[in-house]
Amino acid sequence: MRILEIILEHVQVPLREPFRISNGEVAVKDAIMVRIQTDSGVGVGEASPMGGSFYSAETPESTWTTLVERLAPLVLAARNIEPWKFHSILAEVDGEAFAKAGLEGAVWDAAAMQTGRPLYELLGGTRRPIPSGVAIGLYNTVEELLERVDHFVAAGYQRVKIKIAPGRDLESVQAIRNAHRELPLMVDANGAYGLDDLPLLRELDRFQLMMIEQPFGRTAIAEMSELQRQIQTPICADESAESLPALEEIIRLGAARIINIKVQRVGGLALARRMHDRACRAGLPCWLGTMPELGVASAQGLHLATLNGFTFPTDVEASSRWFVADIIDPEIQVSSDGWISMPEGPGTGYRINEEIVERYLVRREVLQN
Ligand code: MG
Repeated sequence: MRILEIILEHVQVPLREPFRISNGEVAVKDAIMVRIQTDSGVGVGEASPMGGSFYSAETPESTWTTLVERLAPLVLAARNIEPWKFHSILAEVDGEAFAKAGLEGAVWDAAAMQTGRPLYELLGGTRRPIPSGVAIGLYNTVEELLERVDHFVAAGYQRVKIKIAPGRDLESVQAIRNAHRELPLMVDANGAYGLDDLPLLRELDRFQLMMIEQPFGRTAIAEMSELQRQIQTPICADESAESLPALEEIIRLGAARIINIKVQRVGGLALARRMHDRACRAGLPCWLGTMPELGVASAQGLHLATLNGFTFPTDVEASSRWFVADIIDPEIQVSSDGWISMPEGPGTGYRINEEIVERYLVRREVLQN
């Protein structure tokens, strides 16, 4: 396969409510749609960094620049493009996982569409419904948080994840546990704690949490290993599991018992698949996390989540949970008992909703050789 043309489209879709985590807040969802025209068809992917720079160094603006100035010329010059090996072409540029994930997603889509096969089949998965969990941001009061938890439990989500931060942790978890004794519940700190917080984190053990996600900073792998030795609740690595070498370090030190794999954070589906395989060999269950992303990247993630090692509910939620509209048709839907059914394909089985893309388009650029 050769890529003849790349069309980049930056869209900004308003969120239904701002999303707050321990280190920042966003009110719109930025995404860069990456459409490719190949010598045998078309494909679409999504590069989906969060707005602002509080989650990662990459922003929508820096990702756009990387795609235009550095990655597009490489890809347009490449001769034999093949989805499993595509990341090695992109490896000439360091980092830039979001931009790479967007381009690679388009290549996977083109490959699937060209053969008329569903994406999960190309990735080695098996068609099955995917359990969906809800992620709930930080709120000013426990009452507001509880109201949101009640709402999403009633909507059928199979587990609830709340964001925690120093000062907004034990009381929140206690209140939810009191109201929902059996609820599959987990917390995500986005790296807001340190080893000094060990006594507090130990107290979380009494709430039967499924896991504590990313208690310490991205590079604090040795510290997470120390924490895991001192608590019973499994630690889940998110930001720390940014690459295969980082995953090796997590496994070597026993720094986590569960791995959150995000296609955008690791730079594409092929590398995400390899990390899934490595985690499986180490006996670590995985689940598919999100930024969250709009429908193109979410749908591709769902196809990856059909692999056997993804045993916990995904963070992919109904399109309408966060976004006033989604760029795919149909939108992603979650059943009243928390399942997302997998379309048969071809590709992801979802089409682009061109009207929504036009409505929220910020800029477009066409790149050719
Ligand atoms: Mg997380």
